[in-house]
Amino acid sequence: MRDDRPRRRGSRRIRPEDVNEAVRRLRGETAPKTVDYREASLRTHGLICAKCGREFGHADRHLLTVHHKDGNHHNNPRDGSNWENLCVYCHEDEHSRGLLGDYLSRGKG
Ligand SMILES: [Zn+2]
Ligand SMILES: [Zn+2]
Repeated sequence: MRDDRPRRRGSRRIRPEDVNEAVRRLRGETAPKTVDYREASLRTHGLICAKCGREFGHADRHLLTVHHKDGNHHNNPRDGSNWENLCVYCHEDEHSRGLLGDYLSRGKG
């Protein structure tokens, strides 16, 4: 895998403009290119966390993420059967368990 992120060394100062830009990007306010399935999943399953049941609105929908049930981000069936809408907290939880499970069972790839 290639790491395409630009690396800047020696830039010690963090400018407020950079922070604002980063926040904007995190919020998805700059057009995201790789998240078509996210919108599709939110549309299919609704703005609700499948795990804790928390509902989201337009203001905090960025906290809702799409989990791939089989762990394969390239498996995006149109009916949404591989997607699960999870809030960032449940999503993190899901993955930490998944990793542990994989580790314990040394399962499939
Ligand atoms: Zn949740
Ligand atoms: Zn996930």
